[in-house]
Amino acid sequence: MRLLVVSTPLGPLGSGRGGGVEITLNSLVAGLLERGHSITVLAAEGSTLAPKGQAAQLWMRSGRPQLSSQHADREADVLMPADGLLPQFWRVVLEQAGRGVFDAVVNLAYDWLPFWLTPTLDLPVFHLVSMGSVNAAMDAVIAEVASWDQRRLAFHSAIQAADFALTGPPVVVGNGFDLQAYGLCLDPEPLLGWVGRVAPEKGLEDAAAAASRLGRRLAVWGWVEDPAYAAAVEASVPVGTLDWRGFLPTDQLQQQLGRCQALLNTPKWNEAYGNVVVEALACGVPVVAYRRGGPSELVQHGSTGWLVEPDDAQALAEAVTRVDQIDRRRCRAWVEQEASRAVFAERLERWIAQGFQN
Ligand code: UDP
Repeated sequence: MRLLVVSTPLGPLGSGRGGGVEITLNSLVAGLLERGHSITVLAAEGSTLAPKGQAAQLWMRSGRPQLSSQHADREADVLMPADGLLPQFWRVVLEQAGRGVFDAVVNLAYDWLPFWLTPTLDLPVFHLVSMGSVNAAMDAVIAEVASWDQRRLAFHSAIQAADFALTGPPVVVGNGFDLQAYGLCLDPEPLLGWVGRVAPEKGLEDAAAAASRLGRRLAVWGWVEDPAYAAAVEASVPVGTLDWRGFLPTDQLQQQLGRCQALLNTPKWNEAYGNVVVEALACGVPVVAYRRGGPSELVQHGSTGWLVEPDDAQALAEAVTRVDQIDRRRCRAWVEQEASRAVFAERLERWIAQGFQN
């Protein structure tokens, strides 16, 4: 297939602004290239593709980044800057419709415009929905596409898909990771880890509280999206509890993350998937997570980590004391079986191919 993959309008690929969508895009591109498809990526100016995606064409446009839907109020109107990346991207798609250059478009942006355009476009658009329900306008437009032709939608987890009004069972594609990029580490330091955008919906304060209860150091990797929130979390625990490591490229992240005894994953929202959970497992790091959202489908309780009652820092701390019961090799093996790039690309290919059938 000749596919046009439309990136997130939140910022350039490689900047971290797009959160998990960046890793999803790189994995999707490399995986589909490996399966012989021809890929063009449409992304913000300044974007870089991961090395294994270099065979894709990269089309870039400049414009103002979109404000993430996830920070919109539930009842907020749809907003987009007049000189925004989002309308720029979709103008390109509209120009391509009917030209016969592409067989389909794969949209990775969680924004209203691409969904709204879908039923009217003379080019099939497939949406990999990257978040659960955050806003009524998005819920409505996703439901609209679902009732028109739900085959155009795929989700990262069943629990995420359950947020939306669908007409039938969802297509769940999970996510995929380049396993060569993550090394299995069997000799951890006495260190706990937390990875994610530093923003309230990610619940860093609970992981910090658990680390502080245990008198343990918590290394934190990720882009500080909300500095005031980061400062409040820092102030909530004894000095030295949090070890801020910044946003690192995957290679450095996995090297450091692999040395952790456990990853704490504490989302406050219905996390669609939980890339960081799988990235930790790929390094052999057991995960202690809340039984909520995507991570509750990813962590195999008692085998690759522990799931605890959401919002209970005490339960988190207790579960951390039991991570030595988890075999780090089993963590890695689960990712090899369920979330490799190859497995993900196969699922994506099946999804798109089925969407073409009458
Ligand atoms: N990440 C990274 N370097 C860091 C911290 C995070 O590359 O130092 C990446 C991480 O690998 C993951 C993404 O940021 O793929 C966060 O994605 P996730 O799905 O966990 O959350 P989102 O930010 O999309 O809500």
